[in-house]
Amino acid sequence: MSSNTWGTPLTGRVAVITGASSGIGQACAERLAAGGAHVAVVARRAERLTDLVARITAAGGTALAITADVTDAAQMRAAADRVRTELGTADLVVNNAGVMLPAPVQELAVEQWQQQIDLNIGGVMNVIAAFTPHLLAAAAERGVADLVNTSSIAAQNIFPGFAVYCGTKAYVTHLSRQLRAELGPKNVRVSALEPGIVGTELQSHVTDAGALQWLAGAKQSMEFLTASDIAETVAFLACAPPRVNLQQLTIMPTGQLS
Ligand code: NDP
Repeated sequence: MSSNTWGTPLTGRVAVITGASSGIGQACAERLAAGGAHVAVVARRAERLTDLVARITAAGGTALAITADVTDAAQMRAAADRVRTELGTADLVVNNAGVMLPAPVQELAVEQWQQQIDLNIGGVMNVIAAFTPHLLAAAAERGVADLVNTSSIAAQNIFPGFAVYCGTKAYVTHLSRQLRAELGPKNVRVSALEPGIVGTELQSHVTDAGALQWLAGAKQSMEFLTASDIAETVAFLACAPPRVNLQQLTIMPTGQLS
């Protein structure tokens, strides 16, 4: 990636996308592959990944399915080794797998707290541990690399009942800002994506009645973002000239207030 202009092609880039079996991750994989990137798609549901790889390949792209659990550090290290062997050094990591399980704090849904912490924080860190060597090597070789962490407007705003989810996303945003200070001087750009509501499977895991009611009301009152809207944003930031790091991106449905 040597161009100094906006819209640098994605051709030749090696992208890793976690949480690629649905929603934002899947859309990112399809968008980046359509732009010419070679993509490694990571999630637990093997069949979904196989179908995704088949679609990308049929469209003329290159994709590698890696069935793995991001909460398992060893599986992430193995994933990084496979990417190196089968696609090359990764220069774009979309660290995206996440889960949202709201419930009022007094219900002490501690298992759901832990699930969110393990995936949204632990999983994010396992991906960073496995792929930072790739990003540093790619940046040294090619002049720039990208780590894109999917946070949320939950990192900034107050949503009663969503405290643990919001806390995990605040972690992701602040971590991203800290990492940028360390990795930016080494030509690795770090971005935190902060979308408002996107219509995906994320909402389908919610069990809390109050949160479900709130989400249903939100759906009536506005048009949600689509996963493709977020994928376009990821492609846009990855195609910025190497001197430009879009560090924090808030992407709202036009009708969502906060
Ligand atoms: P989805 O539920 O559609 O996608 C979540 C993805 O994460 C799935 O591909 C799932 O695949 C994967 N995943 C879950 N657990 C693991 C695991 N242990 N190891 C590997 N992969 C895992 O939701 P979204 O696309 O909406 O969510 C993507 C990210 O966007 C999340 O971080 C979410 O917090 C964030 N976000 C979403 C918003 C929204 O409104 N939808 C708004 C703001 C942020 P599998 O089950 O196959 O492993």
